[in-house]
Amino acid sequence: MKTSAPTDHDDLRQALRALCAEFPADYHRRHGAAGTHPEDFIGALTRAGWLAAMIPEDYGGSGLGLTEASIVMEEINRSGGNAGHCHGQMYNMGTLLRHGSEAQKRLYLPKIASGALRLQSMAVTEPTTGTDTTRLKTTAVRKGDRYVVSGQKVWISRIQHSDLMILLARTTPLAEVKRKSQGLSVFLVELKDAIGKGMEVRPIENMVGHETNEVFFDNLEIPAENLIGEEGSGFRYILDGLNAERTLIAAECIGDGYWFLDKACAYANERVVFDRPIGQNQGIQFPLARAYVNVEAANLMRFEACRRFDAHEECGAQANMAKLLAADASWQAANECLQVHGGFGFADEYDVERKFRETRLYQVAPISTNLILSYVAEHVLGLPRSF
Ligand SMILES: Cc1cc2nc3c(=O)[nH]c(=O)nc-3n(C[C@H](O)[C@H](O)[C@H](O)COP(=O)(O)OP(=O)(O)OC[C@H]3O[C@@H](n4cnc5c(N)ncnc54)[C@H](O)[C@@H]3O)c2cc1C
Repeated sequence: MKTSAPTDHDDLRQALRALCAEFPADYHRRHGAAGTHPEDFIGALTRAGWLAAMIPEDYGGSGLGLTEASIVMEEINRSGGNAGHCHGQMYNMGTLLRHGSEAQKRLYLPKIASGALRLQSMAVTEPTTGTDTTRLKTTAVRKGDRYVVSGQKVWISRIQHSDLMILLARTTPLAEVKRKSQGLSVFLVELKDAIGKGMEVRPIENMVGHETNEVFFDNLEIPAENLIGEEGSGFRYILDGLNAERTLIAAECIGDGYWFLDKACAYANERVVFDRPIGQNQGIQFPLARAYVNVEAANLMRFEACRRFDAHEECGAQANMAKLLAADASWQAANECLQVHGGFGFADEYDVERKFRETRLYQVAPISTNLILSYVAEHVLGLPRSF
């Protein structure tokens, strides 16, 4: 399928397509049905260096930008896979890269680049506060050369397939800060030193086969040197990372959108009902054409968000808009693809129902559509703050 994506990454795309082709649809279908982690696939991506794309060459990575990282994610989803199993490392990396100390970067980045360590997990969301992040209740209290963490998180993904986790916790009580975004800090948690020693992990079964968990902290001790950046400035660091996360998720949705359209068009050309391919009917053509138009438009915003992020320009609006446009476009493409397949769309072996469930997640996570609209209303249109 033709797209208006820039052509200067064709070599990157070809390399990824060759790797992804080694893991055909039935591989992802099997893992999707069993709810298991596609370890061979993630291992192959790691060994090929793709999950270290954003680590600078000085630390053993490939030194690529968000643009290239987003193409890695897009191609995984476009091949029929689910980048949700590994996308954490791409955006968590940014927090360490942009705000970590030289000592932290020297200690961790080369090991992440070689695949010896995985940084796949980020713990922000809490059960009682949800999207109202600055009110989160997990605390980290400094005691000598350690921080002691207590509280609870929910929906924390990939812990069981990660060695390191980024944690956002409150270090100064809300009542003692001028702005609610102050007093939050970011830590790098070494999971082998934490699980069973003050940190408990309980898996959550869910509709997208995504490894995600409830997490409980009961006086977990973290060495003070695992604080990232300055104490109290963590919310800003997380927001920086979230722009990368939103843009990468947009790219995954775009990969999904093209996958659904490829699949729908192939079926519409081949399925004959009333003596003609169903794709000959404009009732079938127009919804697919409209879905394609929307995926293409979202793709342009995604590349603009990437460009700004890589140039260290302000990119909050573009990252949010790319996420909303791409999530809507992939969901629309998913619906049309299911519709075009008629009854067969519901059969596991066509993969449509699995991808349909997987792409639905992005209306809600990592940020819901309403919250993006609220961001645009307030920060771009200058409308009054609503909460
Ligand atoms: C599979 C999965 C994986 C996840 N992985 C992670 C992870 O690794 N790390 C992590 O930290 N989090 C993770 N999350 C959490 C995810 O980021 C949140 O679910 C998401 O941000 C929404 O928060 P919430 O579920 O608390 O919804 P809530 O904040 O409770 O909101 C519920 C609904 O109300 C709407 N709403 C809330 N306030 C307003 C308002 N003022 N105006 C209009 N509408 C409003 C929201 O848009 C949403 O639709 C994951 C979630 C899922 C489902």
